[in-house]
Amino acid sequence: MTKPEATAGRTGTGAGAPGRTTLIEHLEFALTVDADDTLVRDAALLLRDGRIADVGPTADVLARLGDSPVDERIDGRRRGVIPGLIDTHVHLSETLSRAVFPDVLSTRAWVFHWAKPFYAHVDDADEEVSVTLGAAEMLRSGTTCFLDMGAQNDAGLTARAAGGLGVRGVVGRHAADRKPERIPPGWSQEMVDHHFFPDHKVALEALEDSVRRWNGHADGRIRCWVNIEGKEPCSLELHVGARDLAERLGVGTTYHIASSIEESRVSEKKYGMWPVTRVAQADGLGSNLVLAHAVALTDDEVASLAATGTTVAFCPSTSLKLAKGATSIGKYPEMIEAGVTVGLGTDGVSAAGNLNLHRQVHLVAGLFKDARLDPTLVGARKALRMATVEGAKALGWDDEIGSLEPGKQADFVLFDLDHHEWSPYSDALQALVWSVSAASIAETWVAGRRLYDGEKVTTVDETALRAEARERAASIVARAGLNDDVPVTTTLYD
Ligand SMILES: [Zn+2]
Repeated sequence: MTKPEATAGRTGTGAGAPGRTTLIEHLEFALTVDADDTLVRDAALLLRDGRIADVGPTADVLARLGDSPVDERIDGRRRGVIPGLIDTHVHLSETLSRAVFPDVLSTRAWVFHWAKPFYAHVDDADEEVSVTLGAAEMLRSGTTCFLDMGAQNDAGLTARAAGGLGVRGVVGRHAADRKPERIPPGWSQEMVDHHFFPDHKVALEALEDSVRRWNGHADGRIRCWVNIEGKEPCSLELHVGARDLAERLGVGTTYHIASSIEESRVSEKKYGMWPVTRVAQADGLGSNLVLAHAVALTDDEVASLAATGTTVAFCPSTSLKLAKGATSIGKYPEMIEAGVTVGLGTDGVSAAGNLNLHRQVHLVAGLFKDARLDPTLVGARKALRMATVEGAKALGWDDEIGSLEPGKQADFVLFDLDHHEWSPYSDALQALVWSVSAASIAETWVAGRRLYDGEKVTTVDETALRAEARERAASIVARAGLNDDVPVTTTLYD
């Protein structure tokens, strides 16, 4: 396997080291994503101790710098800079399942008959490769911080692997406590025992233990939350208890909910109300809760999210692939209008197909314009905010990340403006969202360290990693018995 810690020292020439100063000057533009969405031309970034010490027009930054020494001076010409992207919903334990499942699955069949058997066969060593590979893919597409839904095995494994790679993120221990009444085809008793805690109390104890062990790992780059799976495999007590426990521990929680219209209909049939209403009535909403998907909501539920400060992670690629109906039933524009903080997520690679948040920016900018025949909906400016500062707010981390402002962490992405995708361009924001892809990313930095240099992720041997990933992926698929006999529809939990 990889040895991220051993090679970390050569990245960014140690720019994140205490006391070290790096100046990147004459950047063609900086999209700061501050409160005014300030765009700076001929911009400079001054980095000190892994943070942004100054940002602004190069002439102004140099004037403020005066005669102070600079350890490293970088010519930023033909480069543009944006804040690092923040992925508010990802499954790093799913990265080895790329393009394994059929693409005719709805959310519930995907989860119950394909994803769960796959997850159940991801062992510790598989998960370490999966996390490292996924985090490397994220760095290559400009993501500097993530919220992981939860480890299949040990949250510490995710914390160590991601922490060693240098990326920033929130990890957690996956938890569910409500077994299906009958064991579905392809599931084993061993798998059920691995996947489900006996009840919500035991689950919450394990989650608390993870938070106490791993929150603040890697100099604070890695945080650990009280994450649960959500939906039918979790009791109401676990949904509500996770948020309460998170509040007590001073962290956040996240779970999937209202992630398909089928889930909401099942909830209506069983409990006489949709899932978010059920949680709201149990006093389970709050500003430390990130709801993943939340595609099937009533207008009253949108109002409840706004009133309680509950945030949402919207995953456009997954909605397209699993037919969640973001554009037909989703109320994301209404949430934004109501003041709900909506971040963007990639979801895992089998749900979404990719871990490319830049692609989600492109999708969210246009999906609702097209669906509602309204060219003013969402658009480029809001899409970039959703992928940066709104994501930071959802993670409760906007005091440190999400925009290019003095005092914040030096997490940013440099684009190569000589790349054909940028040749030529006029408006940087429009080009970023509508014209270019992650292919024109030149560098990705986290905490003042250059982790992607345009050719490679600098903290891992990607060639060896990919070879190991291919072998392990094939082995998991074989062990999990994922073949043509696996059902593509479901009545589980109905
Ligand atoms: Zn998910």
